[in-house]
Amino acid sequence: MLPTHPTPIDHIRRYQEELTAWRHDFHAHPETGFEEVRTSALVAERLVAMGIEVHRGIGRTGVVGVLRSGRGNRAIGLRADMDALDMPEANEFAHRSTIPGKMHGCGHDGHTTMLLGAAKYLAETRNFDGIVHFIFQPAEEGQGGAQAMVAEGLFERFPCDAVYGLHNRPGMPVGHYGICAGPMMAGCGFFDLEIHGKGGHGARPESTVDPVVCGAAIVAAFQSIVARNVAPNDTAVVSVTGFTAGTAYNVIPEKVALRGTVRAFRTETMRLVEERMRSLATAIATGHGATAELAFREITVPVVNGAEQTALIADAAAGMVGEAHVDRHRIPAMGSEDFSYMLAERPGAYILVGNGAGEAGGCEVHNPRYDFNDAAIPYGAGILAAVVEKELPRG
Ligand SMILES: [Zn+2]
Ligand SMILES: [Zn+2]
Repeated sequence: MLPTHPTPIDHIRRYQEELTAWRHDFHAHPETGFEEVRTSALVAERLVAMGIEVHRGIGRTGVVGVLRSGRGNRAIGLRADMDALDMPEANEFAHRSTIPGKMHGCGHDGHTTMLLGAAKYLAETRNFDGIVHFIFQPAEEGQGGAQAMVAEGLFERFPCDAVYGLHNRPGMPVGHYGICAGPMMAGCGFFDLEIHGKGGHGARPESTVDPVVCGAAIVAAFQSIVARNVAPNDTAVVSVTGFTAGTAYNVIPEKVALRGTVRAFRTETMRLVEERMRSLATAIATGHGATAELAFREITVPVVNGAEQTALIADAAAGMVGEAHVDRHRIPAMGSEDFSYMLAERPGAYILVGNGAGEAGGCEVHNPRYDFNDAAIPYGAGILAAVVEKELPRG
């Protein structure tokens, strides 16, 4: 059943032209992690123009807008990321990147615009009772922007009863949403492994401890971790993505450096994989007469959606676009997202917003030809606004 009354999406469509212009301007001026100076200044300026109280410099370039309506004290956080990627853009349209080597290749220009659209709508209509915190975070792409805001007291300064975030999804039609309760995106770890042997002549291996052969054995052994140690109904990924060894044809090198990534949906599983990697690497190296040293760092924890908040945002979406356009059982993705650090502090949910399945919006994120689809703006802004109206109903 489609709604007969106008929805936030319908209302926000009236801002389409203005919001599209903002989005194109963000796209043309991409800024990477913690350097979102121009972007955050524009965000702050626009929030102020909407009559929203603005706090800057939380997590360096982070911005929080505060909007109150009525007397309610319940507060909801809505979060968008602002950063671009260190990659050259291959597009040639008018709003292409003007900064060489930097590109809004993940659509965070669109997310920032969607949250501004929700702010504009909520400031104008005030059809809620309580407090909304508009959280514009820096440095989502692996540099710890969400952690930085949380560490600087985000939720102490701006208490939130629940937080919501979103990401555009190429391949999903515009006007569709996808979500699931529980783990939705994997946690991510990066590792570096150094193997020290004894170098020597390529023709006299008997006088060396070859770290290349030892490294190859370790890479092969790592494949047993997911297959033999992680429970079949749980899941993880171990990918060795770098193997750096010698430089000459006839020299067995002293050392080998491996690196890669681990993904898992549960922190316990991540710990288990790390533990297995460490003991396999150490034992295999010892067997070869070499030594191995593993450095493992957590990049993000898993995105875990609250059951209650997932149902609430999915209901809000279905109330606007109809149940048929909302996938409530989206298959979790092995990718990661640092909104997980906000979800680790407060209950909430993270939803995917269709970016388009065909020519417009279908190109995958982090591709040099990607562009956020402006047709998705009202759906992203609309769902954020609708969540507030559902969470903070007017008496
Ligand atoms: Zn990205
Ligand atoms: Zn992204």
